[in-house]
Amino acid sequence: MIIGGGIGGLALALMLQARGIVARVYESASEVKPLGVGINVQPSAVVELAALGLLPRLDATGIRTREVCYFNRHGQKVWSEPRGMAAGYRVPQFSIHRGELQMLLLQATVERLGAQAVRAGCEAVSVDPSAGTVRLRERATGREFTEQADAIISADGIHSVVRRQFYPQEGPPQFSGCVLWRATTVGKPFLTGASMVMAGHRDQKLVTYPISRRHADRGESLINWIAELRVPGDQAPPKQDWNREVALEVFASQFERWVWDWLDVPALFRGAQVIFEFPMVDRDPLPRWTHDRVTLLGDAAHPMYPIGSNGATQSILDARVLSEQIAGTDVAGLPAALQRYEAERLPRTARIVMANRAQGPDYVMDVFEQRAPDGFVRVEDVATHEELVEIAAGYKKIVGLDMETVNARAQVVLPQGA
Ligand SMILES: Cc1cc2nc3c(=O)[nH]c(=O)nc-3n(C[C@H](O)[C@H](O)[C@H](O)COP(=O)(O)OP(=O)(O)OC[C@H]3O[C@@H](n4cnc5c(N)ncnc54)[C@H](O)[C@@H]3O)c2cc1C
Repeated sequence: MIIGGGIGGLALALMLQARGIVARVYESASEVKPLGVGINVQPSAVVELAALGLLPRLDATGIRTREVCYFNRHGQKVWSEPRGMAAGYRVPQFSIHRGELQMLLLQATVERLGAQAVRAGCEAVSVDPSAGTVRLRERATGREFTEQADAIISADGIHSVVRRQFYPQEGPPQFSGCVLWRATTVGKPFLTGASMVMAGHRDQKLVTYPISRRHADRGESLINWIAELRVPGDQAPPKQDWNREVALEVFASQFERWVWDWLDVPALFRGAQVIFEFPMVDRDPLPRWTHDRVTLLGDAAHPMYPIGSNGATQSILDARVLSEQIAGTDVAGLPAALQRYEAERLPRTARIVMANRAQGPDYVMDVFEQRAPDGFVRVEDVATHEELVEIAAGYKKIVGLDMETVNARAQVVLPQGA
């Protein structure tokens, strides 16, 4: 049984089905709608989705990310590198609407497991790990009932009720001190038309990239953007205020001089119809995820800052390892299988949570802000090429994105020529 029909939960249902195991998904939202804005899915996770036969659907929806570029706040490029197949991976990296990715996974789940496999409008209230039961509540009626399963996977996101049951003292997610304003704007393609851009530094940042194949086919871009600012105070806004709509005036004046020859940031912001505010939060890594027949997956297990584009990717990698462990055992062996999944995934994802707190690959922009706050004439006057390579390569190693590992995996799971 999977609690939560987000990206991690649905990916797991599909991977289990591919290994001959039937899962049921309970999703609290009454109707799964394409919520959220853009995310990137890294080649390490795209391999796993391609192995499920989903590459054509990803291509019909998202953009194959061609390069990642970092700029200082004056719009000067400090580092860029090819991404996905342009970099030599056997599969692409995708820039995609989070909600469309979720809908794509949902559609495949319903096709392959049947419509009854995903029960929307049903929220988990509590679990009994040794009995293997979940208490659920129908949101429309308030009716509560209990379901039993051989294993229960809590993929219910950053506010996971199962995590709270296991760790009642933990409290709300930890606030980074930064607030994100997220939106999409229809505009002219910039740079390669498939470039992911980060600009600024740790206290003031812009992240932007195109996310829609349909718009690209019309010669325009649906541009996802995130403006990020450090704000006074150390408390995140209360949960009910997350994802609220805000006016441009709340943050835009701080970016009004960010007009560069390749992008007019204030105009980009003005082009959005709705802007959502979101605190940048994460949680400390946990000592354990698994309690008998119950374990955590994705954001429920390891919510991380959206730096380095790893939230969705790591939940898909969790699903791959967990589905392999579950498929390789009988019912009696499931608690041990969940432990093996945790042993492989908990230390890795904990390292990413900590690396993202130190800015992950975005640290390259801090180097330039600290050493050349007014800009520079030549990049190499500020930092050596080796230093910049080291920042990028070090992070890729931590998140499992080194090319040999990903391509070796593709060699195993993808048919020749895929
Ligand atoms: C509405 C929404 C918008 C998002 N937008 C973005 C974005 O724009 N950019 C970005 O980088 N990341 C976004 N994220 C986070 C991103 O989806 C995750 O970091 C990543 O995909 C990991 O996925 P996950 O499956 O672990 O969690 P999620 O994708 O958060 O999915 C968790 C699912 O569990 C469901 N759920 C929660 N509680 C219960 C319960 N008690 N019982 C049953 N179901 C429950 C939720 O409705 C949700 O569908 C968003 C998440 C959500 C839920």
